[in-house]
Amino acid sequence: MPAAWLSAELAIQASYFVTAGLFILGLKRMSSPVTARSGILWAGAGMLVATLITFLYPGMSNYELILPAMLVGGVLAWWSGKRVAMTNMPQMIALYNGMGGGAAAAIAAVELYRGAASGYVTDSLAVAGGIIGAVSFAGSAIAFGKLQGLITRSIRFGGQQLLNLLILAAALALGVLVAGRIDAAPAAVTGLFVLALVLGVAMTLPIGGADMPVVISLYNALTGLAVGLEGFVLNNAAMIIAGTVVGSAGTLLTQLMAKAMNRSLGNVLFSGFGDTGGAATGEVSGSLKPIEAADVGVMLAFASKVIVVPGYGMAVAQAQHKIWELCQLLIDRGVNVRFAIHPVAGRMPGHMNVLLAEAGVPYDLISDLEEINAEFDTADVALIIGANDVVNPVARTDKSSPIYGMPILNADKAKNVIVIKRGKGAGFSGIENALFYLDNTRMLYGDAQKVGAELIQAVKAVG
Ligand code: NDP
Repeated sequence: MPAAWLSAELAIQASYFVTAGLFILGLKRMSSPVTARSGILWAGAGMLVATLITFLYPGMSNYELILPAMLVGGVLAWWSGKRVAMTNMPQMIALYNGMGGGAAAAIAAVELYRGAASGYVTDSLAVAGGIIGAVSFAGSAIAFGKLQGLITRSIRFGGQQLLNLLILAAALALGVLVAGRIDAAPAAVTGLFVLALVLGVAMTLPIGGADMPVVISLYNALTGLAVGLEGFVLNNAAMIIAGTVVGSAGTLLTQLMAKAMNRSLGNVLFSGFGDTGGAATGEVSGSLKPIEAADVGVMLAFASKVIVVPGYGMAVAQAQHKIWELCQLLIDRGVNVRFAIHPVAGRMPGHMNVLLAEAGVPYDLISDLEEINAEFDTADVALIIGANDVVNPVARTDKSSPIYGMPILNADKAKNVIVIKRGKGAGFSGIENALFYLDNTRMLYGDAQKVGAELIQAVKAVG
């Protein structure tokens, strides 16, 4: 064995070890908003090491294809990453995730077309990774289309799930033919990938647009799995490690999101929930009691403790800067101000944390549901900014409600509740909110950004 080859092999394996360490360190640091930025950098450094070390592989060739492809991909990703608005982040993730699935499927296709994989086991792994990667690619593309508003309808018809099952069964049957070398002709391989792509599209089309973040998280897990499987095919430790890390992180995130929404994954995938819009439905007694910004300004200015609950409406209105300006005024007056974040407030994981960080809200003022819930009892005002489902008390009491059992922020326990929203629009679940009708609740109608500006003036006017 030539010494040069041996040292290259050693360097490659050592660098994969370093890569794995960097990925895990990055992921660990992403668990807190304080360290998340550096986590992204560490994980990125891991990816850089893994990419560069690939060039050391003995027998590497095709540089004239690889380098321009890396340049085009790198420039496009840099450009789109710099330009994307925070609210468009979910579709960007869908797109990148789809690319990962597509890349894994492409590796499988190349290996299967040229019959290069050695043995039944490797062929089976290539087929499994290929099907999963293609489903993730096509499904993520549809998810992107829905979130971007390019696909506005959720297509549903009777027997849809049976049809999807049949497509899956046909893809698996072709997979057995290919992996078992019963029929590994290019036509069978092509058929396998076409069926997997159709399955990805057919699975995703019926799901409501607002459920897409959960679906993307699921496809993210599938992409990780596909990459890991193709890592075995190519005997590439970095792919196996990265794929496993992504696969397990994606699975955990999917589970956590479904749990925080009090829904099963099956319900997200097959129920057509999350497609509602317009006015809220459901029976709630009492009346809605409007209030003026000037009165709320006085109430806030003389409060000793205010808990702000941001929700999807704050993201729509991009009101975070105004709300933070308002809070700074209150803090200057000696008011104890806290922000309460529900795990599924908004439309993507960490949505509210990202917006508040963008506005410059210090992390120590921001608390999760478990930390803050006991504190609502002692708050003078719960200020709800475009949140609805995450503060709906029917989740505690009404067994027939679609959100029954979902943990909610105890805003109703505050002495006064001020709800900022534009009108009678429903939240994501489409149901009426009992909080809005309570005796201690007042509705401050208007776009959250506009109302935020009015409240700033109102507090300043108090003097
Ligand atoms: P909701 O979707 O329950 O409610 C948002 C409210 O904001 C609406 O009732 C709307 O009322 C109001 N609103 C909209 N635009 C504005 C505006 N410009 N200014 C002021 N208010 C506005 O939001 P929540 O954050 O409370 O709950 C999130 C929901 O999304 C949960 O049901 C969760 O399960 C779901 N979900 C969350 C995901 C996540 O990852 N975070 C993923 C998928 C779903 P009006 O029209 O009257 O203004």
